[in-house]
Amino acid sequence: MESAEIVVIGAGPAGIAVGVEGARAGIERIVILEKSEYSCDTIVSLYREGKRVDAVYRNVSVAPQGALAFETKTKESFLAWMEEVIDTYKLDIRNRHEVLDVRKNGDRFLVQCGNQAVFEAPFVVIAIGIFGKPVKPSYPIPREVRDKVFFSIPEQPPAGKKVLVVGGGDSAAEAACFLSQSNKVTLSYRRSEFFRINEPNLCTLNQCCTYENLETKLGVDITGIAPEGERVRVAYSGGEEVAYDAVFYFLGGSTPRAFLQKAGVTYSKGRPVVDASGESGVPGLFLAGDLVAEKGSIMAAFNSAAAVVGKIQRSLSAASIKA
Ligand SMILES: Cc1cc2nc3c(=O)[nH]c(=O)nc-3n(C[C@H](O)[C@H](O)[C@H](O)COP(=O)(O)OP(=O)(O)OC[C@H]3O[C@@H](n4cnc5c(N)ncnc54)[C@H](O)[C@@H]3O)c2cc1C
Repeated sequence: MESAEIVVIGAGPAGIAVGVEGARAGIERIVILEKSEYSCDTIVSLYREGKRVDAVYRNVSVAPQGALAFETKTKESFLAWMEEVIDTYKLDIRNRHEVLDVRKNGDRFLVQCGNQAVFEAPFVVIAIGIFGKPVKPSYPIPREVRDKVFFSIPEQPPAGKKVLVVGGGDSAAEAACFLSQSNKVTLSYRRSEFFRINEPNLCTLNQCCTYENLETKLGVDITGIAPEGERVRVAYSGGEEVAYDAVFYFLGGSTPRAFLQKAGVTYSKGRPVVDASGESGVPGLFLAGDLVAEKGSIMAAFNSAAAVVGKIQRSLSAASIKA
C-alpha cells in the first residue's frame, strides 16, 4: 500500500489542476490515478481531430480563479499544453490505474484500483467527469442499427451519407457542422430554439445552414428508431418518419452515481451534495470538475480544483497549528 497526502482520481482538466494547485501550495505526495493510457482521456477520445477547444463553453465565460487558464486552442495544441503543465509541475500521474473503490478507514481513505494497487491518504479528490457513459435516449436502440448509431465522431467519419445529429448543445452543433462538410445533415433538437450554444458555434451553424448540406429540425422530439434496410428509420413526435444512414447522439454525460454513493457521497435533487469547496459530507472527500459544475467546462474544472486545494490547504494549516 502506498501513502499520499492527496489521492486524485482522474487525470482530466480537473484532476491535473488539483495537482498543479497542490504543487503550488507546497503540498507534497499528490498521486493522480487515471484509468486510461493517457491524461485527458475525455478530450483524447471524444473530441474530434482538429476540434476547437473553446475557453468560453456553453455560452458561459468563466474568469480564472487559480493558476490555470487558456485561450481557445485546437484539440492538439490544448493536449500539448496539458502535457507541458504536467511536466512543469512534475505531476505524479499513474496511467492504467482505474479506481474501483474508495472507502474511509478511521481518518484516512483507502483507494483500491482495478490493477490491485492500493493507496491511502487523508484527502481524496474524485475528478472522474461525467463522460464515462454518454446519456442515451430513453427509447431502445435496436441491435440491428447499433453499427449506425454513434455517441462521438468515429475515427473514420461517414461521407456522402444522410445523417441525423440529435442534441442542442455545443457538441451537437460542432458535430453537425463538421459532418455537413461531406454529408447531408439534419440537426434535430426537441426545443424550438438553441440556447446552450456559444457564439462561435452558433455563428458557424448559421453559416452551415445557408449551404444545402445542413438543416435544423427544431421543436420536435424523437419517439423511437427502427431498422429500415441498411438505414435507421427515425420516428418524430409529429408522426413523420425519416430514414437516415447514420444517427449521432450528443446528449451529454451523467454523474457516476453508483461510484459516488459507494464512496459515501449523498445526493439531493439528482446532484451530489458538496460545499462551496467541493467537499462532500464525508470529511476529506472532495469532488471536482464536471461532477460538481452546474455547467461543466474546462475553465470551470480548473476553478473547482483551486477551490478544493484551498480548503485542503486550510485544513492542513489548522492541523499543523494544533500539533
Ligand atoms: C465532445 C465534447 C466537446 C467539448 N468541448 C468543450 C470545449 O470546447 N470547451 C470546454 O471548456 N469544454 C468542452 N467540453 C466539456 C469538457 O470536456 C469537460 O467539461 C471537461 O473535460 C471536464 O473535466 P473533468 O476533469 O471534470 O472530467 P474529464 O475531462 O471527463 O476527465 C475525467 C478523467 O477521469 C478518468 N476516469 C474516469 N473514471 C475513472 C476511474 N474510475 N479511475 C481513474 N480515472 C478515471 C477519465 O479517463 C478522464 O481522463 C466538451 C465535452 C465534450 C464531450
